[in-house]
Amino acid sequence: MVESSVVTYQGRIIDYSIGNAGSVEFNFERIWEFKRYMGEEFQPYLLNFYHVHPEGLNIYSELDKKCMEGFWIAFGYPIYFTVITFFSSELFDLSLTYSTYEYSGRGAINQVDVVHLSEDQILFLKHLSYYFIGGT
Ligand SMILES: [Zn+2]
Repeated sequence: MVESSVVTYQGRIIDYSIGNAGSVEFNFERIWEFKRYMGEEFQPYLLNFYHVHPEGLNIYSELDKKCMEGFWIAFGYPIYFTVITFFSSELFDLSLTYSTYEYSGRGAINQVDVVHLSEDQILFLKHLSYYFIGGT
């Protein structure tokens, strides 16, 4: 199992990444490219960051906190950041638990009840974390 991530804008995937057993990065350049592409229409509150943790680790890490701070600085807006853990490695068993955090500056992190992934997007994440070998 490896960590994986997707970034959505208005519910549509605009970036995905495959990490390793202990972490995954978000492709900031691609997200910034999307922001440029959208121009004036871009609204940071429509961005959502999701990533998969190993089973049992359904809480943000220190690295995640730094990541949230970075996004907050970059976009100047509270961002939603979701950690997902699956209950099984069976591809089509999509049972999961998640925690969504809202970072609103100066280290303030609140847990909120927001997740907007479709079943297809969840299956995609599961595939990346459990069935995609050797890619980036
Ligand atoms: Zn994490």
